[in-house]
Amino acid sequence: MLTIIDAHLHTSGRETSDDVLRSLDDAGVDMAVLLAPFLTEPYSLADRESLRQGNRYLSELVAGHCDRLFGFAVVNPLHPEAPEDLAEVAELPGICGLKMVPTGWYPYEDCAHRVYEVAARFDLPILFHSGIFIDGRSGRFCRPTFYEAVRDHPGLRVTLAHLGWPWCDEANAVGLIDRINGVDPAESQFRFDISFGPPPIYREHVFRTAFDVLGSSLMQFGSDRFLPCSGAHIRAMIDEVSELLDRLEVSREDRNELMSGTASRWLRLPSRV
Ligand SMILES: [Zn+2]
Repeated sequence: MLTIIDAHLHTSGRETSDDVLRSLDDAGVDMAVLLAPFLTEPYSLADRESLRQGNRYLSELVAGHCDRLFGFAVVNPLHPEAPEDLAEVAELPGICGLKMVPTGWYPYEDCAHRVYEVAARFDLPILFHSGIFIDGRSGRFCRPTFYEAVRDHPGLRVTLAHLGWPWCDEANAVGLIDRINGVDPAESQFRFDISFGPPPIYREHVFRTAFDVLGSSLMQFGSDRFLPCSGAHIRAMIDEVSELLDRLEVSREDRNELMSGTASRWLRLPSRV
């Protein structure tokens, strides 16, 4: 049986731990990275206090289930207190990473570096939105090369979501640098999630290119679904990816990397799943 880590799953602030675990069981997902709520009312990136509440909510949701659920807090670097807020939430049970969405700030700006410093200090991996937004917000802050700024913080391990679509070649180039320099994928600062990403007409070409350029050990699966939702809703995304992998004739070994191996190293799980 293939182990599956869903490395990109949103919470809304309306779920219970039991609901989440049941949905994961129904979907056949072994472990999941859960992102603190920030896109559903009353939570909002613009409202610092709502983010703090969302992070506390997430901690309560995942605490006690640290074998399966990995809580990723959300802070907004535009809030001057974001570094302190992250340091505070990093101490909460079950919080083991950070999600960041550049909107109104660029990933190379000082305000972002102050947050990266805290993430590096607490050894928190970061999941970044990268590429265009589907809700009409400008994606101009989220080009893959902007994230090269994290190289100023050696040891920080980040994932760029959505393969940076429509800047997939740029994302591949960012990831390729470590390969060219002989860095072990497990130690690379960058990896890329295949959630949503390119519309279907682009998908085969984009995934084929990413497999060839980055390799499966720098790619990871994320459903980008919003909880609470049924297991079937998550499963549909897994099946969609599986069909694509069939068409691309991806090997079993590469599937294992994509569906769990890459994420397990990103999360520094104690034993290889
Ligand atoms: Zn997402």
